[in-house]
Amino acid sequence: DLEHPLDNETYEELTPFLEAMDRQNKEKEAVSNMRKEFSANVSHELKTPLTSISGYAEIMKNGMVRPQDIPLFSERIYKEARRLITLVEDIIKLSKLDEESVELEKEDVDLYDLIREIVSRLSPQASQKNVRMEVTGESVKYFGIRQILDEMIYNVCENAVKYNNENGRVSVWVGDTLNGPKVTVTDTGIGIPKEHHERIFERFYRVDKSHSKERGGTGLGLSIVKHGALLHGAKVTVHSTPGRGTRIEMQFPKGKG
Ligand code: ADP
Repeated sequence: DLEHPLDNETYEELTPFLEAMDRQNKEKEAVSNMRKEFSANVSHELKTPLTSISGYAEIMKNGMVRPQDIPLFSERIYKEARRLITLVEDIIKLSKLDEESVELEKEDVDLYDLIREIVSRLSPQASQKNVRMEVTGESVKYFGIRQILDEMIYNVCENAVKYNNENGRVSVWVGDTLNGPKVTVTDTGIGIPKEHHERIFERFYRVDKSHSKERGGTGLGLSIVKHGALLHGAKVTVHSTPGRGTRIEMQFPKGKG
């Protein structure tokens, strides 16, 4: 009766449900904390270049710059504006991946052709540092979302160039394995210390903040890769030795995506 709303038996029966609710609440809280942290990071990342731009522009506006220094100031403004554009583009890509229903359709994508195209898009960046890029393997068809596969492989290849040394090398291999299509990107760059291997997939995480910024990084590239992999059921692994180089493997599942 009403005097004992929850006797022991009922309580025991309810325990698993109460525990499940507790877990759910914790998960919700974790997601909400991640969102909060993400917005805090976004504001910081957006504010920094905007503050520089407005600062340089204000000094110029007040006529406090010698004529010979104007090119230098314009260059700084331009660079910060470019950073902002890349950042906003990455944030948009990520938020699209976050939407539960990704509207983009899956189609048969030839990963070999896609990689060749990505490598040619990266060739201006690579030749600036005299980094040689090669593609090996074989033509593999994979049923996936072309635009997202493109972003994933592009980001990994771009990092392989960005964090490479002068005269370095990047080799991309694609082929079919027993577990399904696989893409590996190997570089001869600066490498990543083991304790960072998990964390580099987090939003805005960089091993070396100034290094990444100087190389035009936003810290979002690999979180886009992680989300793309989740959408396709792919697995991404990192093998790296500091000072020697990095190999990133993307294992896609067998069959129709
Ligand atoms: P970013 O825009 O800074 O490159 P990413 O999310 O793409 O951000 O990568 C996160 C961090 O992981 C980078 O800042 C860099 O420190 C490290 N990293 C990623 N790829 C490589 C690589 N191939 N070699 C060395 N470090 C890398």
